[in-house]
Amino acid sequence: METTRYTQQHEPRNTMSLYIDSASHLHHDLEKNLVVTCPHCLTVSHITPSAVPRFEDLQLYRPNQVGLVYLCDACHSPIFLRFTVRAYGASRIELSPQFTEVERARERFSFTYVPEDVERMFREALNCYTHGAFNAFASMCRRTMQAMCADLGEAGRLRLFDELNAVRDLADIQPEIFATMKSVLFGAELDASSPLPLLDGYEAGILLEVAKDLVYEAYVRKGKLQQAIMVRRFFLDETNTDITPLISSAG
Ligand SMILES: [Zn+2]
Repeated sequence: METTRYTQQHEPRNTMSLYIDSASHLHHDLEKNLVVTCPHCLTVSHITPSAVPRFEDLQLYRPNQVGLVYLCDACHSPIFLRFTVRAYGASRIELSPQFTEVERARERFSFTYVPEDVERMFREALNCYTHGAFNAFASMCRRTMQAMCADLGEAGRLRLFDELNAVRDLADIQPEIFATMKSVLFGAELDASSPLPLLDGYEAGILLEVAKDLVYEAYVRKGKLQQAIMVRRFFLDETNTDITPLISSAG
């Protein structure tokens, strides 16, 4: 509580205010700008408060954090946000404007063209990321790459290394983060006993994009291209069979 009071005393007066009044009503002067990615409909949507804890209950138990329920304006599903309490006043409870999304939007990936063994690992990796289990996510990324290496063979494995290097140059990833990622993804390929480095949320976010790119490049891009070429050939064949009888009947 000491730090809470300290923060409040040193806030300039014109910062945004967010508080629950003694009638348990939420006051939020930037309420109009409150936008999140909805974990249900996955749109970036404005949210409206729908359930606020009772002022008396909060005053009685004085928790450090409080949970508020909002409604997604797009799909009307509930969205839970957790706020840190800044101060318990006699007539209002001040909340910090930063909040934690209790349920985060699921990470999506199109698994068409991805082999089952790889899909199983990478789906679980995405679930770990969605739930903020970043080191579990890293472990599943390593297993995804192991499944890919087993599936693609030696030539495919070398292409994966090349692709990873290409990503580094394209995305201009910092050398130390790149080294961590390389160790997460391919450490076990180079040395089976190599330990997994620990990741924070920022590094995990970069790893997520890189892992998606590697899976996409190895399977989805190739699959889409093959599919597109197959469709072209199909229509070419169709056109040819249409023309042939015309010519023969004319002749
Ligand atoms: Zn929604």
